[in-house]
Amino acid sequence: MKQKDLVQLISSRPLIRELQKMTEVSWFNPDETNVATALPYVGLSQQDVRDASARLLRFAPYIKKAFPDTEKNGGIIESPLVRVPILGEALAQQGSNGPLGNVFIKLDSHLPVSGSIKARGGIYEVLTHAETLALNSGLLTPGEDYTKFFSEPFRHFFSQYRIAVGSTGNLGLSIGIMGAQLGFRVSVHMSADAREWKKAKLREHGVDVIEYEQDYGVAVAQGRKQAECDPGCFFIDDENSKTLFLGYSVAGERLKMQFSQQGIVVDKAHPLFVYLPCGVGGGPGGVAFGLKLAFGDHVHCIFAEPTHSPSMFLGVYSGLHDGISVQDIGVDNKTAADGLAVGRPSGFVGRAMERMIDGFYTINDERMLEWLKLLNECENIQVEPSAAAAIYGPQVVSQHSRYLRPLGISPATLAQSTHVIWATGGGMVPKQEMDKYLV
Ligand SMILES: *Cc1c(COP(=O)(O)O)cnc(C)c1O
Repeated sequence: MKQKDLVQLISSRPLIRELQKMTEVSWFNPDETNVATALPYVGLSQQDVRDASARLLRFAPYIKKAFPDTEKNGGIIESPLVRVPILGEALAQQGSNGPLGNVFIKLDSHLPVSGSIKARGGIYEVLTHAETLALNSGLLTPGEDYTKFFSEPFRHFFSQYRIAVGSTGNLGLSIGIMGAQLGFRVSVHMSADAREWKKAKLREHGVDVIEYEQDYGVAVAQGRKQAECDPGCFFIDDENSKTLFLGYSVAGERLKMQFSQQGIVVDKAHPLFVYLPCGVGGGPGGVAFGLKLAFGDHVHCIFAEPTHSPSMFLGVYSGLHDGISVQDIGVDNKTAADGLAVGRPSGFVGRAMERMIDGFYTINDERMLEWLKLLNECENIQVEPSAAAAIYGPQVVSQHSRYLRPLGISPATLAQSTHVIWATGGGMVPKQEMDKYLV
């Protein structure tokens, strides 16, 4: 971006100065509107989410066989929703504007198979691709038992095909583990942020790991290039994929079910706030879409990003989406939150979702690590730094009466609201790595 254009942009978008300083900042989106108005802009519908949900149900008997830890949940990959009253009290005491109501944590950190939110979108896209190949080849006919995927002929069939993906770590893990289990050859193009243990784990599964010294954008571009040269290679495009997005979106109806089991009501008098750590935008965007379809206008989705990687914040706030990167404004995209170390946002999610996202805040690495420790101390729950970015959410929201008042949310309403901290990863972090975070 030219210096002249940047100066002009900043004159109409003054918060970019704060993003440049890499200080913590929040922004509540004036274009957020009701679901009925916002929905046509997404370009996907309730029916698309239903189709995704049905596909996951078709694969459940196979998943149960391939990953025995999903057996107790019938082969449905889902995470617990846990009340965290001690953490909630600590957050309220330390810096909220009055009582917060119910505080929950959604443990995608402990999703089966790959221990992060990527076990929603990534696995869903691999399954969708496998289903298409199997149907097109005649190996599978509609309505058949999907446990057939757990067989030598199927593995042999998929071994002719390759899947490629660029990742900061967790997407690679989910696609590598799922793809290898089905028999695919998988290449994961890993950015410099990716943790060593994630690469080692993938190699154990027979996945080709290609390492880069550059960031996520370069890893994705290289993955795309590899796939273009090989007609048998399917590229999972984290920067643009609607399939990934739909895989994430099924979380909305699942959370709604968990709320009804726990007797939690969401309505005008009991609003729901959900805090979602954001990288390229697909995970939080897809989940937010599903939540809006499931709960309507009384759910408010707020995205959390590191002060060093506020890519989606910048994209939506500037209206330039993938036309601007954090490097364009002089921000370095270097953070301990490897899952969020993305400099340029998705080209699709910001445009689709800019009327459904309530706001964004940034959080510095030190605070993320503090929250990670606090969650461990209060509730004995261990997450990775990226996931800890969401813990700040209830305080940010409660301190912004200028955001809450126009929504008709008084301090009394806030006291009977529900907050969900979406803990997006950490379940597979080796103990010695986790101990380093916790010292
Ligand atoms: C990938 C990831 C996110 C964010 O998802 P995006 O689709 O990149 O926005 C958040 N937390 C963790 C732990 C992740 O791995």
